[in-house]
Amino acid sequence: MAARPSRYLNDLNPAQREAVETLDGPLLILAGAGTGKTKALMARVAHLITMQRARHDQILAVTFTNKAAREMQQRLARTPFEINGPVRWMGTFHSISAKLLRRHAELAGLKSNFTILDTDDQIRLLKQLIRAANIDDKRWPARQLAGIIDGWKNRALTPSKVPAADAGAYNQRGAELYAQYQARLRELNAVDFGDLLLHVVTIFQAHPDVLEQYQRWFKYILVDEYQDTNVAQYMWLRLLAASHKNICCVGDDDQSIYGWRGAEVGNILRFEKDFPGAHVVRLEQNYRSTPHILAAASGVIDGNKGRLGKTLWTEAQDGEKVRLIGHWDGEEEARWIGEEIEAMQKGTRGMRSVSLDEMAILVRASHQMRAFEDRFLTIGLPYRVIGGPRFYERLEIRDAMAYFRCVVSPDDDLAFERIVNTPKRGLGDKAQQTIQATARANGVSLIDGAALAIEQGLLKGKGAKELGKLVVDLARWGRMAGDDDLTHMELAEIILDESGYTGMWQNDKTPEAPGRLENLKELVKALENFDNLQGFLEHVSLIMDNETDDGGAKVSIMTLHAAKGLEFPAVFLPGWEDGLFPSQRSMDESGVKGLEEERRLAYVGITRAEEICTISFAANRRVFGQWQSALPSRFIDELPEEHVDVLTPPGLYGGGYGAAGMGGSSGIEQRAADANVYNSPGWRRLQERSAQRPVSQPRETRNTVIDLQAVSSFETGERVFHQKFGYGSIIGIEGDKLEIAFEKAGTKKVVASYISAADD
Ligand code: ATP
Ligand code: MG
Repeated sequence: MAARPSRYLNDLNPAQREAVETLDGPLLILAGAGTGKTKALMARVAHLITMQRARHDQILAVTFTNKAAREMQQRLARTPFEINGPVRWMGTFHSISAKLLRRHAELAGLKSNFTILDTDDQIRLLKQLIRAANIDDKRWPARQLAGIIDGWKNRALTPSKVPAADAGAYNQRGAELYAQYQARLRELNAVDFGDLLLHVVTIFQAHPDVLEQYQRWFKYILVDEYQDTNVAQYMWLRLLAASHKNICCVGDDDQSIYGWRGAEVGNILRFEKDFPGAHVVRLEQNYRSTPHILAAASGVIDGNKGRLGKTLWTEAQDGEKVRLIGHWDGEEEARWIGEEIEAMQKGTRGMRSVSLDEMAILVRASHQMRAFEDRFLTIGLPYRVIGGPRFYERLEIRDAMAYFRCVVSPDDDLAFERIVNTPKRGLGDKAQQTIQATARANGVSLIDGAALAIEQGLLKGKGAKELGKLVVDLARWGRMAGDDDLTHMELAEIILDESGYTGMWQNDKTPEAPGRLENLKELVKALENFDNLQGFLEHVSLIMDNETDDGGAKVSIMTLHAAKGLEFPAVFLPGWEDGLFPSQRSMDESGVKGLEEERRLAYVGITRAEEICTISFAANRRVFGQWQSALPSRFIDELPEEHVDVLTPPGLYGGGYGAAGMGGSSGIEQRAADANVYNSPGWRRLQERSAQRPVSQPRETRNTVIDLQAVSSFETGERVFHQKFGYGSIIGIEGDKLEIAFEKAGTKKVVASYISAADD
């Protein structure tokens, strides 16, 4: 006798109930954002178990990210029903595949304790093979080959299946090197990320008995975010579901945002063909967002062609319109959002008070995070970065800073170790050991050790020559740091260019390389807020030092891609400018494919918001020391006017505007004239302000400067407040750094701009 369904069914609407109670056969839940697709999927797991259709370990539930899987487990734990154990096969395609592959490793020529290589290992291995094949890896970078191989793996193509059409890949050597790479991985008892799925698919295809075993075991298959599956994932699912066809896929074609990684939105469109007799359930009631937010999102996504088309409605109160605001530049955007967050936290302007955990900033490109991170650190606003390292922890940022450290403090051996062979200078382990030994024997720094080793003829050949150049360059850059005619931003660019570091990423053909270059530009931009490289490096080391997770509420910062499936009462969407969002690449592409994917990303962004959605853009961005005027995103023009509230730009900060080196704002004005949303008094004011400024007027009064001026008013013994460490009293002042004995957190050194006078 099956148990009685319990309360989890009661909080579902009729369409959701239908999705949950239709247990057998193929089922597609096709619905827009926030309609409870994920909720229904979870209820379905509960229902299958309650109705004793499957045991908790006989259900296969696949999500797109680890975060989503965790979230799913948590939701399930909150579902009011009893399960007798964890839903063991719930996770991402990769995590489940890894588990399957460990069980059957020998069928893929591996041992069950195989290692999973990260990208760096993967590249290193490819480089060895490329060199052995006598290919110039400067001209044909290993990362490019890695990208091609990943692409094949996403399409479930083993080396022997690479189609003739791809024969030209990687100077016609791609397929051959792919085969060698796979063979080498086997020898090493290793797999890369793409292999996890590929091997499992290959095993299922070659060993029907194994496949059958799992087809019987997984009685029900459930898949969230189905619109983002790639070909390999799709084959994996089809194979497993082939016999009983108890597969339930949940998705939204409008939220397909991983085309660039091989996802095929066609999979969702094809579901009914692949699984004849499939039942399709559409959910139309949105439980997440206010009508204004929904209408704004619909207005944008309407611009895409070839959609399945969906209706969305909500019973929620109107709430606030989507807020739109233009800023002078990116720093001001970050400052305004910081203030807005604090205001919302306090519950001003008649709104309820919103906790930091309920707010998120969703960016298009990860380099946008830097301005927010710096600003929030300055004002002591707790934040977390989701789905990636924080800005100053990124590989390219650490590398670049190691160069700066070597220039500022030639004794910094750790920094030198980091950069001595980055970019490659032909210095292998042995050469590096020689440098270390020479330095130790003479009691000098590694840089001096390197110079000595060359002098004494301990190092020879190309490596020695390049190393000699580096040593000379570091000293030269060090002298340039004292040159008054050169700003430290210019110096930083010179260092990154002349060392070959920027060039290394320019030659890199992987999908991540453009992002890394953007981050480097952003790093140079960050320097602007400091007097010199040294001040900047101190700032960063203090930031890193102070970071501990105290478990308190924090604002989340993440990319739009990482935000899929999540929801927040208040969402900020900054940087809506052509070239940033939509990205330059999507705009340059012929055809609308890329642009449509960007538009779906905009739809994903807006629909993350429950109550307040704030879209912003900056009229100017500084790129490598040059001001460039930016045009508001074309997606802004697509927001339906009646659901948008154009806010007054913050001209209220007093005198902060200037236009030094501005490329002119004609573009903005033109776009402003085109777009009716800019007929607001607020926007006109921003225009007037820019028109009033003579182009030659220097841009002074940065907020950091203001903050630092406040420093001089601090005195030893004064009681002060820090957002994170609380109250304390100043026990020492050293430039812009204060040593403070905090009442709870102990003694710490912090940059003065983090501190405010205790107002008691
Ligand atoms: P996305 O497309 O963004 O992944 P989704 O369709 O998966 O969205 P969910 O995240 O499952 O939507 O649900 C959105 C919100 O609506 C959640 O907070 C969920 O708890 C709530 N919700 C869903 N269905 C109902 C319902 N029937 N009654 C009340 N709240 C609901
Ligand atoms: Mg969802």
